[in-house]
Amino acid sequence: MDSQKKHSRVFSCEFFPPKTEAGKDGWRAALDDLARLKPKYFSCTYGAGGSTQAGTYETIKEIRDKGHRAAPHITCVGSTKTKIRELLQGYIDLGIDHIVALRGDLPEDRKQAGEFAYANELVAFIRRETGRHFHIEVAAYPEFHPEAPDAKTDLVNFKRKVEAGADSAITQYFFNPDAYFRFIDECEALGLDLPIVPGIMPITNHKQLARFSDNCGAEIPRWIRKRLEGFGDDLASIRAFGLDVVTALCDRLLAEGAPGLHFYTLNRAEATCAIWRRLGL
Ligand code: FAD
Repeated sequence: MDSQKKHSRVFSCEFFPPKTEAGKDGWRAALDDLARLKPKYFSCTYGAGGSTQAGTYETIKEIRDKGHRAAPHITCVGSTKTKIRELLQGYIDLGIDHIVALRGDLPEDRKQAGEFAYANELVAFIRRETGRHFHIEVAAYPEFHPEAPDAKTDLVNFKRKVEAGADSAITQYFFNPDAYFRFIDECEALGLDLPIVPGIMPITNHKQLARFSDNCGAEIPRWIRKRLEGFGDDLASIRAFGLDVVTALCDRLLAEGAPGLHFYTLNRAEATCAIWRRLGL
């Protein structure tokens, strides 16, 4: 963990583009509440769950218009160099200089019609086209990406993104801190010392969490799963338990030198604010 301790801590929050008017109202309220915590930046997903490019742009613009730092996610799967070039120029024109560069999830038929196969190619393209304009974040997987044939190959592929020009990384969420610590040690052994910020998923809803975790390969430890199952539809107990578990996780990560936390807010402020307060940040 030594490589991580030298970096200053960055706290950030992630949104997805709200689609409906009610969703937009809820998101705006969450943005205002979370802004009081003064995170370094807010990011907004792109393409995940069917969200559109326009939705990400509008969300990022609104965050920026309210005077906050905003970082759009960009995915390259199925895209073209022309399209990514336009997207980058649009963000430069908006005054954005921070970006989260991803491959994105492959479509069901797994056909890759686009001009980019992996995120390292997107990172290299952004650097080629825009020099040092953007601070580029990439994704990291302490429990390994579901498509990776083995842990070592996934680490080597992570290294490709760093060598292509990534400045820092945000991890997929996890509940086992040892997976993160081991991942950092292995990155250090490969000579990587960029900040790798843990992605934190507050626990507020068991079924939703189980669905996300199945899709992205994040493990819910058995003891947490069993407890959550035991609460059934008792949301208050799920939230109280989730707050304890995730606060303890964050506490340990920070105590051992994690360079900040990135909260997957799901456009809601309560759980993130509660964890933040308990941590005394
Ligand atoms: P990559 O780094 O390209 O890796 C994908 C897989 O390919 C891995 O198994 C890797 O080992 C392998 N690989 C990588 N490079 C190579 C190579 N050169 N040769 C051979 N194999 C290689 N999804 C969205 O759709 N929208 C979002 O906004 C979004 N935001 C996210 C934010 C964070 C912080 C995280 C952790 C994930 C996010 N995702 C998002 C999900 C992400 O798009 C998926 O996990 C996707 O499957 C992989 O994206 P990646 O950028 O990590 O891909």
